[in-house]
Amino acid sequence: MMAKSSSSQKDILLYNTASRSLERLDWSEYRPVTIYTCGPTVYGEQHIGNYRTFVFEDVLVRLLKFLGIPLQRVMNITDVGHLTSDADSGEDKLEVGAQRDGITAWEVAKRYTEHFEADMRLLGVVWPDALVRATDTIDAQIGLIKALEEKGYTYIITDGVYFDTAKYPQYRDFAKLDVAGLDAGSRVEMGEKRNITDFALWKFSTEPGKRHMEWESPWGLGFPGWHIECSAIIKETLGNTIDIHCGGVDHIQVHHTNEVAQSEAAHGEILARIWMHGEFLLVDGGKMSKSLGNIYTLANLKAKGITAPAFRLFLARAHYRSKLNFTWEEAQIAQKQYDTLAAKALESAPQQSDIADQYIARAVAALAHDLNTAQVLAIGLEASKELEGGARTYALETIFTTLLGIHFSPGEVEEIPEQVQELARLRDQAREKGDWSTADTLRTKIESYGYDILDTKNESRIVKKVL
Ligand SMILES: [Zn+2]
Repeated sequence: MMAKSSSSQKDILLYNTASRSLERLDWSEYRPVTIYTCGPTVYGEQHIGNYRTFVFEDVLVRLLKFLGIPLQRVMNITDVGHLTSDADSGEDKLEVGAQRDGITAWEVAKRYTEHFEADMRLLGVVWPDALVRATDTIDAQIGLIKALEEKGYTYIITDGVYFDTAKYPQYRDFAKLDVAGLDAGSRVEMGEKRNITDFALWKFSTEPGKRHMEWESPWGLGFPGWHIECSAIIKETLGNTIDIHCGGVDHIQVHHTNEVAQSEAAHGEILARIWMHGEFLLVDGGKMSKSLGNIYTLANLKAKGITAPAFRLFLARAHYRSKLNFTWEEAQIAQKQYDTLAAKALESAPQQSDIADQYIARAVAALAHDLNTAQVLAIGLEASKELEGGARTYALETIFTTLLGIHFSPGEVEEIPEQVQELARLRDQAREKGDWSTADTLRTKIESYGYDILDTKNESRIVKKVL
């Protein structure tokens, strides 16, 4: 009997940040488990720390899918409003990116959304059911701010519309914030705000026309605060209350606390039943930083011979709630381990076997216990030693690829239809000949299939379009 049909294994325990405890996921085969995952801010290339979060979320999705649990997962693309400080000060990161790259904020958003998507393809993640740009939901964000205004949660100061956290007494509960400590430490940042924890819902354009991204609103020309997009997108796509909300630990204190306040104040219902947060990826024992020059991207890893699936193998070593330290030495060890596993997995065609199913059942049980990937990895390595031939391939493909998202054959990651690949080849030929109008027509055709072309210096890559 296949491991996946055992009902006891469909008990999933997840650590809920909101309650600080392990909780059983309440699911039913009659309605999808709704999952929202905070996405990238597309002002530059995402680094490997960002991908650690997106990979842990992918493992969660893979577990549910393997167990046949229906799910609906939405991710946002932050393409406006995220300021250089998470706490509403500084400049909009997209506008900063525009100055840096010498293009418009809209072009910056497009460029780095494509980078992000190409990376996610390399990592072999299960694509979210919807990937929603913040700039496509401005009306919904304005609607939510209006609802908060009608309920008396907002006030207006010189630079924007703010959420009054004093009117939402539960504000500090989620992150167990020491508001008194914040008050004492940050008085200088208060400005005209009434409380140190108050945050912007809508920011005014100080010099109309200077920003690339601004919209009309009932309060004047401007742009949304960073946090409101997630609350609005969740409401629009998944409803008032969702089952699981994920993100990085750095979001607990400000971004997620603010999401909870806005959504729950507006709707009078809890925003998410379970909150899951992935820990930081350290580099050489410390935080990644520009000054140390160690903010690595997948391209940096590739240049040193570390492939995306080997990086995922490296990530699987640690529990998502533990800090993990990246060093080149350890990454190279993971790469070697991956190469050995891939060679074994590709040796024979997969063949179901009862002994292999026992390994798989153990791996599923480990994953169902708050995503214990380190244990899954150990079980997978044991299976690779103890099993042989088709049974071994079957166990490795199920444990590593299906559950952990570590693909062994590179072709599996990109599932681009043959017609699209053919159109891309024709477009390359047209470009070589300098026939730009044919190249543009072909690009439009490719887009009609839901794909796009990312032209870089040396190659044209096919990427899936944002929904
Ligand atoms: Zn968010």
